[in-house]
Amino acid sequence: MYASERRIAELAVERACKLTSIVSNSSQTGSVSKSDLSPVTVADFGAQAVIIGALQKAFPTDPVVGEEDSSILRDQTSLRNRVWSLVQEASSADDYAGTIGTIESEDKMLEYIDWGKFEGGKVPRMWALDPVDGTKGFLRGGQFAVCLALIVDSKVVVGVIGCPNLPIDPTNPSTGTGVVFSTVIGEGAFVRAIGSPFDSTTPISMSKVTDTATASFCESVEAGHSSHGQQAEIAALLGITKPSVRMDSQAKYASIARGDGDIYLRLPVSASYEEKIWDHASGNLLVAESGGVVTDMHGKELDFSQGRTLKNNKGIVAASKDIHSTVLKAVQTVLQQS
Ligand code: AMP
Ligand code: MG
Repeated sequence: MYASERRIAELAVERACKLTSIVSNSSQTGSVSKSDLSPVTVADFGAQAVIIGALQKAFPTDPVVGEEDSSILRDQTSLRNRVWSLVQEASSADDYAGTIGTIESEDKMLEYIDWGKFEGGKVPRMWALDPVDGTKGFLRGGQFAVCLALIVDSKVVVGVIGCPNLPIDPTNPSTGTGVVFSTVIGEGAFVRAIGSPFDSTTPISMSKVTDTATASFCESVEAGHSSHGQQAEIAALLGITKPSVRMDSQAKYASIARGDGDIYLRLPVSASYEEKIWDHASGNLLVAESGGVVTDMHGKELDFSQGRTLKNNKGIVAASKDIHSTVLKAVQTVLQQS
């Protein structure tokens, strides 16, 4: 199922990953804020443009819920020109044009970016796109991810996550970095090196852990995105002694999906924050298809039918099937105490 959607999504994500690496390698990279003419802004817009451009060619009527819109680009000529030249450079660096096309003009690029303004909700088909998830990680030279998911009747059915800085083989760092994860509902989860042939893809699965004391946590670097304090209490309750692995972006879902870690928790820091669907759609299916369970902190499935955010959910608890209920119980115990 969804073979064509998965293929287009993977090629589009790979092209966007190439674009992010062009930005990283350029002299403009630095730790500057997202609101100005910074490399991360350029990468966000460029990645959204190439991915929506590819989707529009293959599936012109599919709506897209994307993180960015073009208003800043329409106001700032120098930023727009920089993004346009990046989009052209990234698109000419691969031989995917026959399958996912290229963007014809600067105006078309702006149009594609704005195609991502869809409000989401209960629709037969839509895509969720985070062009650069983990912008802090991108700026730090750490982990970030390009994330694209197809949602059909409110269920994620295809998920792709490109992680340019994640090791190809975590047990052998000399093999280099850059992997693309993909999954289709009911068909398992897979990984291959970015740029490698489609048939080089290999299945992944979560580690088999039955005793939570031997498990390891994967958590956000940013304490403002997930409560580190409560997480430490939960780890203690579960008997976990290994230090948490901290990384930005949906690389966390990808890491536990292939067994680099076991548990990903996201515990709300603010009562009013609503998680964005593009921050969880791909990762949710990737973990589910590699032997895991993803719920919110109340044990509810993630509900992708509520618009651009997960209004009906709070927090995230992702772990392998065997330990998910134990982890969830520990989460609830700690949250009730606080
Ligand atoms: P992470 O890499 O796990 O720190 O997550 C990055 C994502 O956190 C970004 O893409 C934002 O959409 C999201 N984010 C921003 N503010 C918050 C917040 N207050 N709580 C949770 N997530 C947030
Ligand atoms: Mg994000």
